[in-house]
Amino acid sequence: MAASGKIGVFRLPPLPTIREIIKLFRLQAVKQLSQNFLLDLRLTDKIVRKAGNLTDAYVYEVGPGPGGITRSILSANIAELLVIEKDTRFIPGLQMLSDAAPGKLRIVHGDVLTYKIERAFPDTIRRQWEDDPPNVHIIGNLPFSVSTPLIIKWLENISLKDGPFVYGRTQMTLTFQKEVAERLVATTGSKQRSRLSIMAQHLCDVDHLFTIPGKAFVPKPEVDVGVVRFTPLVQPKIKQPFKLVEKVVQNVFQFRRKYCHRGLGMLFPEAQRLESTGRLLQLADIDPTLRPVHLSLTHFKSLCDVYRKMCDEDAQLFAYNFREELKQRKRQDQEQEDDTEDCES
Ligand code: SAM
Repeated sequence: MAASGKIGVFRLPPLPTIREIIKLFRLQAVKQLSQNFLLDLRLTDKIVRKAGNLTDAYVYEVGPGPGGITRSILSANIAELLVIEKDTRFIPGLQMLSDAAPGKLRIVHGDVLTYKIERAFPDTIRRQWEDDPPNVHIIGNLPFSVSTPLIIKWLENISLKDGPFVYGRTQMTLTFQKEVAERLVATTGSKQRSRLSIMAQHLCDVDHLFTIPGKAFVPKPEVDVGVVRFTPLVQPKIKQPFKLVEKVVQNVFQFRRKYCHRGLGMLFPEAQRLESTGRLLQLADIDPTLRPVHLSLTHFKSLCDVYRKMCDEDAQLFAYNFREELKQRKRQDQEQEDDTEDCES
């Protein structure tokens, strides 16, 4: 997807620098909240430029903090920016930005994991799923502990076309720990290939736009940071429910160094494991000795389609969890041991 966005012509009036804002409002980063700030407005401009053309866009910024990226977004000729921030200390500094850009910035004190963005923007901006993406963008530099669960949640929203995707194929530009960014875009056969690669790539075009060195943040995190853009696909590559795809993918990658039949076997109760795994692999036409990282999206599609049929034939199968079976067996073994001891004493 092209990203020819240019920062527009709206100019914010002279404002204190982000460093001064941090001093003025005593916004020292809280280590427990993994707060790392971007103070260099050339970098925040770059993130916003790479997000695409934001002219007249409705933008949702997650975790604005002291407002570096917020300023760049406000300078991009947008229609409206809604920011959601969990830490109240940042609200007065954001209010200052709101006063500098009248009618443009809406500040919500809340948690991105629970906020309902689907009600925030006008219905008139909605597009059909098959159309080009709507003029709605999500942009954010969140703590790593939030960005990974959040992207999984939003990927599920994409599969259901709800949450931020009631507007259509809303694009997202988000930061991740560089290793996670690499997993998100990892292709078949690469050593970073993982659960996240399949979950993201079966629903979106995923681009690792660029990497920001850790030293650009204050305070400096231990790792570099990858900026990743997601554009939901018109048709997912795997047309099965999100939870089913997630289950197959999770099982495959739990033994990432073994042959793929090892993890796939865990989809089935022990009594039928050998036979059902063989049937799954045969019907999906997959070599059981392929390693998980060598399975392509087409392989995963076949696996999910066949597993879906097997679940339709056996109503108990999808709920099966091998960890539960293991726990139950341990409990039974323990009870047996206890009974034997009672008899002997
Ligand atoms: N965007 C700013 C920047 O780039 O300088 C701040 C980045 S800092 C890594 C992450 C920000 O996200 C912090 O301001 C933090 O308070 C906020 N945050 C963390 N968890 C959040 C959540 N669940 N919902 C909303 N904001 C959150």
